[in-house]
Order: sequence, then C-alpha cells, then structure tokens
Amino acid sequence: MNDELNELYQEVIMEHNRHPRNYGVLANANHQAAGFNPLCGDRINLKLHIDEDDKITAIMFEGNGCAISIASASLLTEMLQGKQVAEAYALFEQFHEVLTGKIANTPSLGKLSVLAGVRTFPARVKCATLAWHTLKAALTDEAAPVSTETGHEP
Ligand code: ZN
Repeated sequence: MNDELNELYQEVIMEHNRHPRNYGVLANANHQAAGFNPLCGDRINLKLHIDEDDKITAIMFEGNGCAISIASASLLTEMLQGKQVAEAYALFEQFHEVLTGKIANTPSLGKLSVLAGVRTFPARVKCATLAWHTLKAALTDEAAPVSTETGHEP
C-alpha cells in the first residue's frame, strides 16, 4: 500500500470516528447484542431490524472505544443497511480473512478496505472485528455479551 492511499484510509477512519453513521438506539429492533474488547476497552451495542425475508432493514449502534472500533462499527452499519443476512456473513468472512492476512485486500470489501491496514497491527485486529463479532451474536440472538477474549467478563 502506498503512503498516499494509507493516508486517505486513515482520514476515512478518523472521519467515521468523529461522525459515526447510524449512531443511536434503534426503536423497532428485533435483534441485538453487546460486544466488548477487553484488550482495548472497546464496547459496542448493536441493534438491527431484520424482516421476514432475512433482509437487514435497519441497523444502528452505540458504543465507546478507540477510533478503529468506532469507525469499523460505523462502516458496518453503513454497508449492511438493506443487505441480506447471508451477504453480511459473507462480507464478514472476507473482511476477517483480509485482516488476518489470509487473503489480500480486495475491492469487494468496498469501504471496509480502509481498515485493511490494521492487519499489520495484530492487537488492533480485534478492535476492527468487534462490531462484526457483535453482529454475529445479534444474528444468532446470543443473550450473553460477546467478548473478543474468552474468559473475560464484559
Ligand atoms: Zn480498540
């Protein structure tokens, strides 16, 4: 990745951190979960409304944490609005593979590509994936808050 592109990516992350999209409490949510990353102290609460055709008709989040965790949650809500649940899972899988270095950064990640630079900082990968783990918990209706570290109580 060249420096100019890297800088652009960082600007997008900082901008989403300052002005998170879809921030707040979703009134008509029918799925929700809370996520916690004890390594960094990031907390995300995610609420969604999914219709009978498995389409994500609305998604909002609240939370506090580092710029990467908030920007990632903001980008997640922006990208998944109106998507099918199956598309959300597929995107998460691809995003996770990019962040863990299994595959190269790919245009099919869309705006999530701005977070690909995190792969060079393994400790921050959990900041970037927290919202996605929380999403997975919301989709499977896990009652207990999810933690990126097992054995830690949120
Ligand atoms: Zn973090």
